[in-house]
Amino acid sequence: MTGPQRTPGVLGVDVGGTKVALRAEAAGRPAYERSFRWPPGADLAGDLAALAAEVNRLRDVWGPVGAVGVAMPATTDPAGTVTTWPGRPGWAGLDLAGALRRLFPDAATAVADDGDLAALAEARRAGADDVVYLGVGTGIGGGVVLAGRSVPGRSSAEIGHMVVALDGERCDCGRRGCLQSIASGPATLRRAGAGRGAEVSFEDLRAALDERRTWAVAAVDASCRALAAAVVSLGELLDPALAIVGGGFAAGLPDFVPLVAERAHAAGRPGRPAPPVRAAALGASSSLHGALELARDLAGLPVPVRPVPTP
Ligand SMILES: [Zn+2]
Repeated sequence: MTGPQRTPGVLGVDVGGTKVALRAEAAGRPAYERSFRWPPGADLAGDLAALAAEVNRLRDVWGPVGAVGVAMPATTDPAGTVTTWPGRPGWAGLDLAGALRRLFPDAATAVADDGDLAALAEARRAGADDVVYLGVGTGIGGGVVLAGRSVPGRSSAEIGHMVVALDGERCDCGRRGCLQSIASGPATLRRAGAGRGAEVSFEDLRAALDERRTWAVAAVDASCRALAAAVVSLGELLDPALAIVGGGFAAGLPDFVPLVAERAHAAGRPGRPAPPVRAAALGASSSLHGALELARDLAGLPVPVRPVPTP
């Protein structure tokens, strides 16, 4: 267990509002993958203690890591301080970069936006250098990769707040018509509920889509059209090779991504067809794999064509 020549691994950490996923990889060792929930009712100190306990467990069970990439949904400033995080408000003001240096004193560490990292992982998995990624879940995250790199680089791509309908629904950010105010999972369920005249759960929606119920088909179509508008506009601006649609909500509805593709295709114009739309390959773990890609970049490791599967 204690071979001194053992290569330090790379670690990806996907930090979420309710849980955290970790995955470590190294040549010649099975990958380590584990997730944990934040302790109920914990404050910032409690969260950091839970994270430290998991990092110690990783070291004991699996071994050392030489580079750590962290995917964060929170807004962080260029120095690595958390500006705001509605998911865990106690983290606002945390010097995250400093906290990571203390957790991993012997490793290079970096933090990036989870949508940007998900885009990077999906782009590398698809073998494409120019990709836009849209992740449809509680909100809409996403990212843009051009020439193999995340853009805009100095901040995150905020695809969920692209305005696709000036007079549309009110977004959490206060503005009307942001993509996520129309096409996120909760927005789609709200629209379905209004059409049905009763509250609609995700399972209700999926079952009603199978039965081709009008209220369900209409609610999902409106979301897919808004996403197609974003894809077509991103296509005009960036001419990506691919638009990749992921996130838990999209992944749970088999017809969702094909419908976005169809709506986008129909909105192309002569000389500028819409980018082809494809379902995400990494499912719910795009950001975790993106965090690993960040760690790999820090360690100067070659980029694998495909992630190493867990044995
Ligand atoms: Zn918004």
